[in-house]
Amino acid sequence: MLRGLMMDQPLLIASLLEHASENHGDTEVVTRTIEGPIHRYTYAQCNLRAKRLAQALQRIGIHSGDRVATLAWNTHRHLELYYAISGIGAITHTINPRLFIEQILYIIGHAEDRVVFFDINLTPLVERIAAHCPTVSHWVAMTDRDHRPALALANLHCMEDLIEAEDGQLQWPALDEYTASGLCYTSGTTGNPKGVLYHHRSTVLHAYGSALPDVFGVSARDVLMPVVPMFHVNAWGSPYFAPMVGAKLVMPGAAMDPQSLYELFEAEKVTLSAGVPTVWLNLFAWMRQHQRQFSTLRRVVVGGSACPPAMIREFAETYGVDCQHAWGMTEMSPLGTYGQLKAKHLEQSGEAQFAIKQKQGRTLFGVSMKITDDAGNTLPRDGKAFGDLLVRGPWVTRGYFKGEGGDVLRDGWFPTGDVATIDDDGYMAITDRSKDVIKSGGEWISSIDLENIAIAHPAVAEAAAIGVAHPKWDERPLLIVVCKPGADLDRTTLLAFFEGKVAKWWVPDDVLFVAELPHTATGKLLKMALRDQYGGHAWPG
Ligand code: AMP
Repeated sequence: MLRGLMMDQPLLIASLLEHASENHGDTEVVTRTIEGPIHRYTYAQCNLRAKRLAQALQRIGIHSGDRVATLAWNTHRHLELYYAISGIGAITHTINPRLFIEQILYIIGHAEDRVVFFDINLTPLVERIAAHCPTVSHWVAMTDRDHRPALALANLHCMEDLIEAEDGQLQWPALDEYTASGLCYTSGTTGNPKGVLYHHRSTVLHAYGSALPDVFGVSARDVLMPVVPMFHVNAWGSPYFAPMVGAKLVMPGAAMDPQSLYELFEAEKVTLSAGVPTVWLNLFAWMRQHQRQFSTLRRVVVGGSACPPAMIREFAETYGVDCQHAWGMTEMSPLGTYGQLKAKHLEQSGEAQFAIKQKQGRTLFGVSMKITDDAGNTLPRDGKAFGDLLVRGPWVTRGYFKGEGGDVLRDGWFPTGDVATIDDDGYMAITDRSKDVIKSGGEWISSIDLENIAIAHPAVAEAAAIGVAHPKWDERPLLIVVCKPGADLDRTTLLAFFEGKVAKWWVPDDVLFVAELPHTATGKLLKMALRDQYGGHAWPG
């Protein structure tokens, strides 16, 4: 082998902020603080404070490999922590404060967090958990002395005090690029949460990939407001790719109500944003009510769960905003696919373009995808065949923290747990979660498709489709429905509604009408519970 002669320079997270400080030193990072007022400073100031914070972490005894947790919203202080912690070789462990207390305690214990940084509006949460976190030796309120929470904790600090005591004379250490940098736990609906451990190299490569023109397409001319929280897979990488390209960052803090978000969009001239569907549904309702329009917003990225087709339309037709669909998961840092059109699609009708934009998108360089059947055979990319979706790439996990779940890869591929189609242009569309797909006579039926049809009936408020054991077909679909108040609907009428909308053999064999359906803490349907409850359903006839 003849080795090339290029420099051996590791890909390190701190270099992203260092780059922004040097080349976009006057570009702003704007935050609606938890204390209330808008805070405004530059990437140069952010970098300096991140260094002072890194010194403070070292002073309180944080070393390479230590886990430092955050219970925090999107703010400049959280951004500084992202860089300060991983910059010294420690690990930024972001925790979703919306989880149940037991889950939070499990996660902190499993991660063996040494320090927890928290936003002051989460003080009541800290008060409840602090006594049950034996690994944590410091609690840091992310505020100044004037707003120090009244917590009776011996080892309580204020973040501003920590920063003030340092001078910022620190060179980011030249770490190995495979050094662990971040830790996120998956919010699994079964079993305990599992930790996904990113490294510097995966994070920087993911940032490069995410910034590409057909992906987030973000530049030094953009103003980016991540509405997706920094505890949800690192706000989809935006705290890394914004400094990488020198985009202005706007951080909404804890005020996620539509009016506060809208005010920031307008006041800071936001051009690009990202978030889960619910955020936009709430914002639309408020904007309709107050007859508002966006003056600078051009693009939003929707992911985390399927973007309703009506949302893509409403963004375009009512607000002149291009809504782009993305798919990923915690195990993928998170980005896997992005729904940007190709040149040839621009010549097609609006409806044809709309059909493509509803799909979860095509993969970016760095992630490979395939779909397989039950026997592991690769299925064709014809947009029709659907099977288990497997991925691989330099920002995809190869196993969970501390070996939880054992060997997760299948022949070097990560099974996503999603079921999907891929078309000949490479666009992937999710049809189900693999554990929810209904297996009838060796063929698969998408429970999501059945639910979407049921919900489209005017009398239906909510619906779940599950597979129930069947003597002849292995499994058949059972539809469980909650009707709208006062609505009158029977089994025959609802089943007739499926005719012509799906293949005959997809039509559910029976319908149960119930008062309510079980949900997870994040509002997703708890199909496990439904399968437990109705698994013994007796089929008619
Ligand atoms: P999480 O790791 O909590 O972000 O969850 C990842 C899972 O969310 C994926 O495996 C999908 O099941 C789902 N998901 C994410 N984005 C989308 C999307 N655009 N459409 C449908 N499902 C999605």
